[in-house]
Amino acid sequence: MPNQLIVVVEDEEDIREIVLYNLRREGYEALGFESGSEGLSAIKAKHPDLVILDLMLPGLDGLSVCQQIRLDPALKSMPVIILSAKEEESDIVIGLGMGADDYMTKPFSSRELVARVRSLLRRTENAGVNHDQQKITIDDLLIEVDRHQVSMAGVAIPFTATEFKLLYQLASNPGKALSRDQLLSRVMRDGVIVVDRNIDVHIRRVRKKLGDYAERIQTIRGVGYRFMG
Ligand code: CA
Repeated sequence: MPNQLIVVVEDEEDIREIVLYNLRREGYEALGFESGSEGLSAIKAKHPDLVILDLMLPGLDGLSVCQQIRLDPALKSMPVIILSAKEEESDIVIGLGMGADDYMTKPFSSRELVARVRSLLRRTENAGVNHDQQKITIDDLLIEVDRHQVSMAGVAIPFTATEFKLLYQLASNPGKALSRDQLLSRVMRDGVIVVDRNIDVHIRRVRKKLGDYAERIQTIRGVGYRFMG
């Protein structure tokens, strides 16, 4: 199998070099670019397996690059991880809304970034095979889509429609950061009428029902939630 190719768009040379170094050490082929337009041209030409994208870039910024990727039919399902400075929290929310799959806040650990890359690539590979996911199993926890049922060690747990859809959206996207708005719109897209639009309230109930599995739903401060599969 050929090496997977990762494009890193980051104008800060130190960060770019350390990210490239760590990716290559893990066996990935990695190419670095310092501007959004150079990065985007390379992405269009080379169709990498994953893109790591800084938000604050000279010229074409990271959000615009992400948007261009999602608008291009040939690129739109390409996994994107965005990098941002801490004060850009609202940009993270916008980035996730534009289809970024995950994000990391600077300063970040390269080891963690590589772990996110690996998990995102694994998820993308599985997504093709398992597109119509009818059952999600995590150890003792079973989520059955057609029956709208959650059970733990064979015992069914009552979930409301909203709670079920929320859990399903999170659990079917393991490792992916989802903003509150994304969660709400996905639940409503499935035809569920959400009376209380405060996602946090629903998540609290879901966690309570999940017992030992509650910790799988991680809170991402100022952004939303992520499910660790
Ligand atoms: Ca930057």
